[in-house]
Amino acid sequence: MNKFHAVVGAALLALAAAAPAQNRALGVLNSVIGGGGGAAIANPLGNLLAPAMATPAATAAGGNDLFALLSQAGDVIDEAREIEIGRQLAAVLLGGKPLHPDLQLQRYVNQLGRWISLQTTRPQLPWSFAVLDDPGFNAFAAPGGYVFVTKGLVDRVDEAELAGILAHEITHVVDRHHLNALRAKARAGIATSLVASQLRNNLGGAVQAQLLALGKNLYASGLDQGDEFDADRNGVALAARAGFDPYGLASVLQQLRTETPDNPLFTLSLATHPPAQQRLDQLASAMGNRLDGLAGKQRMTVADRLARRR
Ligand SMILES: [Zn+2]
Repeated sequence: MNKFHAVVGAALLALAAAAPAQNRALGVLNSVIGGGGGAAIANPLGNLLAPAMATPAATAAGGNDLFALLSQAGDVIDEAREIEIGRQLAAVLLGGKPLHPDLQLQRYVNQLGRWISLQTTRPQLPWSFAVLDDPGFNAFAAPGGYVFVTKGLVDRVDEAELAGILAHEITHVVDRHHLNALRAKARAGIATSLVASQLRNNLGGAVQAQLLALGKNLYASGLDQGDEFDADRNGVALAARAGFDPYGLASVLQQLRTETPDNPLFTLSLATHPPAQQRLDQLASAMGNRLDGLAGKQRMTVADRLARRR
């Protein structure tokens, strides 16, 4: 939907004040994962803020190598490097916006997202879903399985709508939309002009500067419209496969359609996505009435769901 990739642009710009927020975010994440995840669930965000050299993928390919890899045409980026690129971007995004402190809500969104991700062709990715403490209406993903939604979004949708949004973001990850866009930007040399100022401000250090410059550029400008329409269409099918009302996403788009671009809570998400009406038209022609039989399930609000779990 509205997704929301855009908050990231703001998050990246907020880097200078990031350290305390990063520490808070990490603490919440550890609580979330330590408290309810279960032993079988990996903790991909647990070492999110550790130095890049601390992970096996980074040891094999440090930030400079990752950037070189992105810049080369033709080479396949293996999954370990894809995850490492996403981890580095996600660390920056988390640094700009703290996680919401409601651990019950974090667990719920994480479990909902993981359930949907299990229905994809890439269930083995270290999927992680988190709610950012931000009143805006936004959602975004990073390569390798990192997905974030804002509290302002969660407050305005029901469960089927949230499932539709997560499925849209999950589709971006499964189809490597951000990774491919980063590669295109790297090959076009977009990072070069941005790196100098990043280094001057000592944001992330020299190793990650080029990667972060690319990410900042990508999340501020958004993906191609074609990728967005694909994520809408495939996300609807994915949400239905996971057992949710396939009209959840369309319902959110209808909500967005009535928002004016000058509402600050929606400004970023509207700016980085095709117009909601256009997305609805595309969805309508793709869906027809094929999914009507799956629609009309009883509405479950997020608040009701959480109350049942308490
Ligand atoms: Zn999108």
